[in-house]
Amino acid sequence: MNGLMMDTKLSITAIMEHAERVNGTAEIVSVTRDNPRHRYNYREAFARTRQLANAIARWSLAQGDRIATLAWNDYRHFETYYAAACSGYVCHTINPRLFPEQITYIINHAQDRYVFLDPDFVPLVEGLAGECPGVQGWVVLTTQEHMPRSNLPNLICYESLLAGESDEFTWPELDENAACALCYTSGTTGNPKGVMYSHRSTILHAYGSMMPDAMGVSHRDTILPIVPMFHVNAWGVPYSAPMAGARLVFPGNKMGDGETLATLINEEGVTLSAGVPTVWLSLLAYLKSSGNRVDSLQRVIVGGAACPLSVMEDFDTYGVETRVGWGMTEMSPLGTVNTSPSSRERYSDEDFARIRLKAGRPIFGVEMKIVDDQGNEQPWDGEAFGSLKVRGPWICSSYFKLEDSDAHAEAGWFETGDVATIDPDGFMAITDRTKDVIKSGGEWISSIEVENVATDHPKVAEAAVIGHYHPKWSERPLLIVVRGPEGQDLTAEEMLAWFEGKIARWWTPEAVQFVDELPHTATGKIQKVTLREMFKDYQFPE
Ligand code: AMP
Repeated sequence: MNGLMMDTKLSITAIMEHAERVNGTAEIVSVTRDNPRHRYNYREAFARTRQLANAIARWSLAQGDRIATLAWNDYRHFETYYAAACSGYVCHTINPRLFPEQITYIINHAQDRYVFLDPDFVPLVEGLAGECPGVQGWVVLTTQEHMPRSNLPNLICYESLLAGESDEFTWPELDENAACALCYTSGTTGNPKGVMYSHRSTILHAYGSMMPDAMGVSHRDTILPIVPMFHVNAWGVPYSAPMAGARLVFPGNKMGDGETLATLINEEGVTLSAGVPTVWLSLLAYLKSSGNRVDSLQRVIVGGAACPLSVMEDFDTYGVETRVGWGMTEMSPLGTVNTSPSSRERYSDEDFARIRLKAGRPIFGVEMKIVDDQGNEQPWDGEAFGSLKVRGPWICSSYFKLEDSDAHAEAGWFETGDVATIDPDGFMAITDRTKDVIKSGGEWISSIEVENVATDHPKVAEAAVIGHYHPKWSERPLLIVVRGPEGQDLTAEEMLAWFEGKIARWWTPEAVQFVDELPHTATGKIQKVTLREMFKDYQFPE
């Protein structure tokens, strides 16, 4: 017997309509090239979204066609998200920090019909437009007055496109499984692969991410998504914020600079923010050196890479709660979140620090398991390592245009490529990427744990560990360190002594090498493939 409940569709259009009616006066603040503080509210945002939908409707696109963006976090990008998806097209967000060849590949692979770009990226597009014959127009997200000079054919001004369009538009009825957004993952090898989100997966992910023990999004919040809208839809904030009616602050291209972020947080009363560890390192460095504070800020979501303990402890001193999140582009992205335990008193300082470093517990909707090389499930005892697999309604089942390829070794489960432990309380800890695992004398060493200890050293700015050939142990960990501003005198001996008593002796790196900077991917992750290449001729001392 079926239940007798309505089957209304889960669509992004519903978020827009809800936000406009219920949260219409909540403000969206944006930093853009043409306005350091643009302000309007959800009602005005969605009226302009309908103007944009009317303009796009003249382009005679087919349902499911891709409209791409190469843009920072701001209100015009937000309008493009909604106008494209709710008209039945797919908003394909492209990471402008990728190599131009990768961007060209992605545009052509996705068959993008139009590209909406920030004025900052006009020079980038000038270099690749000739190789993207399928793109019919390049829409610059600015006013006529601020249009950059360019010889690009089919350059369209965003504000001119909207001007004169009606703000009435009848949104089409969409199937909840229809595609709404596309994001390519920038793997370190091979071509990037496209993850195609649906209206349904996006809504369910937004619900999940808003829960109190996840990001905890409320209409009382002012949210600053520093994580870019081109990186997994800014972790869903452009959907969860209007669902809740939270005030939004979009930082534009001012994402990496600590001083600008602190100013934005203080002037706009930001309560919740989300970003990768690097961003917080620069904010905290600025706060320390300036004596400034961020008193309105209640919590930060840190994800995309392991978060050093020092970041959490520094945030503690400012009264800011750090929540580590783990996820992937393929997971929309949220899988687990680490919220502080309900009773801090139960833990010794050491145990508390250990638990905080974990990636957290799965949000309802995400199932996970760890398996060994033979596919045998491993126990949740916090000790056994295994390849992490996940499944759930916001996890990708196959990649775009690779639907027939064997994406998953085991049907129904997504292979994350991460190696993890899970403890009896469901706290998962990432110990490595499958391909970065260090095997010393046949035993696994967690490079992430070693890196965590290294980055806690006050003289270390950044650190990475790679497995390197060793004649006796086949591989030993080699630690590569960028010294911090006050750590120019840091020696290898001092660095290695730091590990004593903090990790198993045989996990301690065999040697240390100092570099000026580490190579990073376009999404800010350390590029271990490049590091291994850089140190391929290195020999451990006898
Ligand atoms: P992306 O698809 O670019 O978001 O990258 C996903 C990958 O980033 C994951 O598979 C992890 O390897 C890594 N990652 C994300 N969050 C964390 C975290 N909290 N701790 C450690 N690694 C993480």
